[in-house]
Amino acid sequence: MSIHPFSPTGRIQALDSMKEESFDLLIIGGGITGSGIARDAILRGLNVALIEKEDFGYGTSSRSSKLVHGGVRYLETGNIRLVKESATERKVLKHIAPHLIHPLNFIIPVFQGDSLIKYRAGFILFDRLAKSTKKEKHKKLSATEVKKHLPHLRGPVKSGLIYGEYITEDARFTVMNARSAAEHGAKIANHVKATGFRFNNHDSVIGITAKNTLTGDTFKIDAKITINATGPWAENILTKNNLSAPESLLLSKGIHLVFPAEKLAVTDAVLLNTPDGKSGFAIRRWDFVYVGTTDIIYEEKIDQPESDEQAIQHLLELVKISFPSAHIEKEDIIGTWAGLRPLIKQEGKSTRDTPRDDEIWKIKEGLFTIAGGKLTTYRKMADRVLKKVSKDMPHKLNDNSRTKEVILPGGDIDEDYDNYKKEMTSKFKQLGLPSKTIERLAWLYGSANLELINYGKKDDKWLEELAPGIPAIKGEVKLAVEKEMALTLTDFIDRRSSLLLFENEHGQKAINEIAMIMSNLLGWDELEKESQILSHTKNARKVLVKQ
Ligand code: FAD
Repeated sequence: MSIHPFSPTGRIQALDSMKEESFDLLIIGGGITGSGIARDAILRGLNVALIEKEDFGYGTSSRSSKLVHGGVRYLETGNIRLVKESATERKVLKHIAPHLIHPLNFIIPVFQGDSLIKYRAGFILFDRLAKSTKKEKHKKLSATEVKKHLPHLRGPVKSGLIYGEYITEDARFTVMNARSAAEHGAKIANHVKATGFRFNNHDSVIGITAKNTLTGDTFKIDAKITINATGPWAENILTKNNLSAPESLLLSKGIHLVFPAEKLAVTDAVLLNTPDGKSGFAIRRWDFVYVGTTDIIYEEKIDQPESDEQAIQHLLELVKISFPSAHIEKEDIIGTWAGLRPLIKQEGKSTRDTPRDDEIWKIKEGLFTIAGGKLTTYRKMADRVLKKVSKDMPHKLNDNSRTKEVILPGGDIDEDYDNYKKEMTSKFKQLGLPSKTIERLAWLYGSANLELINYGKKDDKWLEELAPGIPAIKGEVKLAVEKEMALTLTDFIDRRSSLLLFENEHGQKAINEIAMIMSNLLGWDELEKESQILSHTKNARKVLVKQ
């Protein structure tokens, strides 16, 4: 039987190759940027390795607003290029991952005193730049229609606009990009940290030293070109090695709050603006509504940033003013998350006004850094960085990226999501799964649901729920270990299943069951199991809001 490259054994084989081979390209960082570069590079025929110090999506790529969006806001600053690129990328991403990129209607309420004409002018331009489809194109809503979508919205509403964007599960999307790269031959491993750069006599970078953080094993990796794609860590990793980039990074923290949709009724997504100048958005996902986001300069530790009280109060106020009749209080918050935007510093510009463009710097021979950018534009960033590094490659790079056509794992489903969902629902219903579980599985797994069903055919325990009332099944843990490189409890609960952020009790009720399944699959002894539970419980506390 062939070994899956994203299985525990596949990872060990990748590590063995890293110790033995010399790579065309070595990528440090398994966020969406690094995973996207690895995928593009392997599809162009390069010999590629990628290491990630924790887990794919551990950094900003699991803590974004989870939108694949056209960036209509950037029209205000005249960044037409970014709007055009983001807006057109939405279609490409929807094509390669129809199971993970879901349409989301965005509503812009127009209040007394606001100018509908101004909004419409912006959206006419946006639709043109985005080449919006009929479904995506903006439409006018009456005040009654706005209220139907948003019964708790403040008044007096004059009218509104609605237009089409997309929502994703950023962490799974990142994992699927990394997995796709590995399935095409890239050597990829999580829980491996780059500890330093290695230089030859001419002071060129010829690879790195690395540490497997699960075993403590240290080793060297040889590469013609190394790309530092470590997002918020990009500057630190250079300075630790006495190197520097031509420009500085500015980290900006954005937090989100999660509420129950039964308390905060929002059908789709809505842009929020209050008379006292607060702004943000509220987005429906399953039985939850999340509200974001802040944009505050951040200078503390980069690993696992937390939502601070001031930011929580700011968003809570935004919710209270925007939805007065929902009577939302702090105790209604189910959870929170915080992420860091690695922005390119521009003197005199606030974090909000700092452009979301990416920059690629050649640090020295053999070493490049990519920073900035957006999840939505990751494919284009990969294309840009590869074109830039190709000038330093000994052989010519295939000019054309194939990432536009090659479907991501799980994405080989009917492009009409409703058809696919109907088919999946009927299959899972016959197997006795509750409708909430079916909805979640359909939204996250695409064709991988067929693998879950196959597990169930061999042993029906894999179709059992993880704990009473949790809309997730045991087979997901098996899939995550065997084909998604989940090696710790947090890898599964946070970045494979999204139970940490989108489950009423953050998956805590299922923790013993998940730990038992992972122990059996990964050979943990009792001590390791306990240590995993302890470490995950500590991580999970970061999404709780102190009352
Ligand atoms: P990261 O995801 O942070 O990845 C860097 C990785 O490098 C990490 O996993 C880290 O563990 C690893 N690493 C660090 N040091 C080492 C080392 N020494 N060795 C090995 N690995 C290492 N974009 C959108 O398109 N849509 C949105 O809705 C959106 N919302 C956002 C909301 C917020 C609050 C924020 C902060 C950003 C948002 N973005 C959004 C932007 C988007 O999330 C980021 O641009 C993107 O996730 C950055 O990905 P990255 O791979 O560059 O960084």
